[in-house]
Amino acid sequence: MDFTFNESQKLFYDSVVKFAKKELCAHSVEREKKGEFFREGWDKCADFGLLALPVPKEYGGLGMDIFTCVLTMEGLGYACKDSGLLFAINSHVWTCIIPILHFGTEEQKKKYLPLMCKGKMIGGHAMTEPNAGSDAFSIRTTAVRQGDRYILNGTKIFISNAPIADLLIVFARSGTQKGFAGITAFIVEKETPGFSVGKPFEKMGLRTAPTGEVVLADCEVPAENRLGREGGGSALFHSEMEWERSCLFATHLGAMEAQLEACVKYAKQREQFGSAIGKFQAVSSMIADMKVRIELSKLILYKVAWMKSQGKRAPLESAIAKLYLSESFVQSSLDAIQIHGGYGYMAEFEIEKYLRDAVAGKIYSGTSEIQRNTIASWLGL
Ligand SMILES: Cc1cc2nc3c(=O)[nH]c(=O)nc-3n(C[C@H](O)[C@H](O)[C@H](O)COP(=O)(O)OP(=O)(O)OC[C@H]3O[C@@H](n4cnc5c(N)ncnc54)[C@H](O)[C@@H]3O)c2cc1C
Repeated sequence: MDFTFNESQKLFYDSVVKFAKKELCAHSVEREKKGEFFREGWDKCADFGLLALPVPKEYGGLGMDIFTCVLTMEGLGYACKDSGLLFAINSHVWTCIIPILHFGTEEQKKKYLPLMCKGKMIGGHAMTEPNAGSDAFSIRTTAVRQGDRYILNGTKIFISNAPIADLLIVFARSGTQKGFAGITAFIVEKETPGFSVGKPFEKMGLRTAPTGEVVLADCEVPAENRLGREGGGSALFHSEMEWERSCLFATHLGAMEAQLEACVKYAKQREQFGSAIGKFQAVSSMIADMKVRIELSKLILYKVAWMKSQGKRAPLESAIAKLYLSESFVQSSLDAIQIHGGYGYMAEFEIEKYLRDAVAGKIYSGTSEIQRNTIASWLGL
């Protein structure tokens, strides 16, 4: 495995960092307080090409390899203070664009991808239901074929981007097969009769990323909007999760790098007992552990990217990456607060925000417990 980035990848990373610092950070604290989505920032990201990274040029994308995608998300996580905006971008790209790209018909790709790359259509995906979270394949939303359409009925919950989405990939149960074999995916546009979205949830963190409930009441989806084959929804879901568990969590890696810089700077400046607090081993050890987490996170993320770049599946490795990165981010965020003492706990110093954002990472994309179950099952347990 070779994790050396070439010159053009490094240049792109630098330009992403510069762009994010200049264009995406202003007023992020105010937006966070209000829970306001940064539409202008979204449009700027689209103009920069950040919504189009993995999409081939023929569909309006940049045609980038997965390594460059991971590196770009890392740069955004490092430099962009609007973590909710990044979360919305992640949902759009990895859970909506990628499945359409990999499982869509030529017509679907031509219809949706150029508009999604330009940010003119916002996407997301809807699997979770009030009674089916970790046990995703126990969903109850039904899709019944009637002539040239499917009639969908059910409720989806905690859906990222739902309040701002133009289309969602909705997973539903079709036919008579139980469990994973009965799941089918559909592209559902917001104007579809019978489709409605509830008001956004108030969240602990990632507050600028709108999250909502989706109701499908006799929702009439044209048959041509089925994504993949009937019963193919679970394979599609697993495939997109591998992308999400690597590329989305690269933003966590970037955030941990920014967090580390802030902690090192503070530990050098802040004096107690006549000495910089970084000279106290209890403090420097916390910082050393933060660095270890970053380096190990990099290795496992880049390994997943390498496997996928070789055309290999990486279900075990992406579960390990997701688990390790999300738990590392929570621990490093706790340490960052501890290192900053009372200042770290006060919102105005923008250190506690990391923790509020990080906690969600242990839940979405499959909880930590579910990742451990996955890893154990690969070991034959
Ligand atoms: C910020 C955010 C964004 C999200 N975005 C989306 C989205 O865009 N689309 C979407 O479909 N969903 C989304 N979700 C939903 C998310 O995928 C679910 O919340 C998650 O899968 C857990 O499901 P649940 O909340 O129902 O918890 P539950 O499944 O009820 O789990 C509750 C607890 O029980 C544990 N548990 C459950 N089963 C087991 C088991 N077999 N072994 C061990 N422990 C177990 C869990 O780990 C957890 O600790 C989002 C969630 C959040 C927080």
